[in-house]
Amino acid sequence: MSEQLSFVSPTANSPWGTYLSQVDRVVPYLGPLARWVETLKRPKRALIVDVPIEMDDGTIAHFEGYRVQHNMSRGPGKGGVRFHPDVTLEEVMALSAWMTIKTAAVNLPYGGAKGGIRVDPKKLSLQELEKVTRRYTSEIGIIIGPHTDIPAPDVNTNAQIMAWMMDTYSMNVGGTATGVVTGKPLHLGGSLGRVKATGRGVFVTGREAARRLGMDLRGARIAVQGFGNVGSVAAELFAEAGAKIVAVQDHTGTIVNSNGLDLAKLVPISRTDGVIGFKAGGDIVPNEDFWNTPCDILIPAALEGQLTAERAQKTTARLVLEGANGPTVPQADDILAERGVLVVPDVICNAGGVTVSYFEWVQDFSSFFWDEDEINVRLDRIMMNALNHIWDTADKHKIPLRTATYAVACERILMARQERGLYP
Ligand code: GLU
Repeated sequence: MSEQLSFVSPTANSPWGTYLSQVDRVVPYLGPLARWVETLKRPKRALIVDVPIEMDDGTIAHFEGYRVQHNMSRGPGKGGVRFHPDVTLEEVMALSAWMTIKTAAVNLPYGGAKGGIRVDPKKLSLQELEKVTRRYTSEIGIIIGPHTDIPAPDVNTNAQIMAWMMDTYSMNVGGTATGVVTGKPLHLGGSLGRVKATGRGVFVTGREAARRLGMDLRGARIAVQGFGNVGSVAAELFAEAGAKIVAVQDHTGTIVNSNGLDLAKLVPISRTDGVIGFKAGGDIVPNEDFWNTPCDILIPAALEGQLTAERAQKTTARLVLEGANGPTVPQADDILAERGVLVVPDVICNAGGVTVSYFEWVQDFSSFFWDEDEINVRLDRIMMNALNHIWDTADKHKIPLRTATYAVACERILMARQERGLYP
């Protein structure tokens, strides 16, 4: 019998399966609200769209696009759009659900959504990339909007792509709707601090977790998987605080240096040649060796499902900071807990990006823009308050931070669900 995608039966080892088991773990802490928990186990709405474009050589190519609105109990849908050749509907379902948990965990007035196009943007010319973006935006235009669902950047998407999305939506509705997407360029209603916000949030939550563990950041050894907007910014902030970045992995390979990699040189080279372009500054090792490089802090900041049970067994880290969404599979979570490794989960650790997206959206509506200090002070405060509240919940129930984050977030979501009631 062929496998059929259903909301409630995930395919093997899928991010959606990981998410569902994370929800199962929180049920004992939900009290009477557990009655509503099924609402979290299926998306509210999922749209699949065909994205046809004329390529530079005159042929017509078709790509598959998705926008999933997982939950809108607490506010409009919110979440990024990723361009990746392996994107699937089921993956986007998981990513949208993690946005629901994330926005509730940091108490932003949003639900959760996510989008994606199954395309390798590295194989497109700039013109083809623009066409794919605009056609996709037009197709999902029937469900997005400044008050209904607000996309943002994610893997392989950036401010230019957000500008095209904003323009396409605006032209279709006949106005200029800056609030329809966040992560826009600065002169198009973007916000200062947005580009670095996710990496900054990883740093702020990581610094606080290290403090509570009694770990000195000066001299701490850090391994970073994924060296894009999240991993590289977090690495720079930790290095500024005195830590040594001893291993970095990206799609080109893995580079290690036990004395610490020179980020001032590595970061610009990685933008064009990938991290292995910096051969002069470290040793290139097989990718699997990344996971047993001696380190104190591990930052998975790439894609889902990277921290497997086997890798969780190998790592020497005492602290894991989830810069990526869904990097740790449930069995690895159990192994890390048994081994006394603290995990700051994605839904709080990488929430800095959507937090500054929220600031951007608020600034767009008020047409009044804040300076960068104000953004960063507010971001740090929101991240710290959320983390402290989650930490207290974890201590109270003697549960891992992930389950505590889900307990805090799911209570907020399901309370809103209950108060709104079922209609029609
Ligand atoms: N893509 C980012 C995330 O996974 C940001 C989403 C947003 O700003 O809406 O959290």
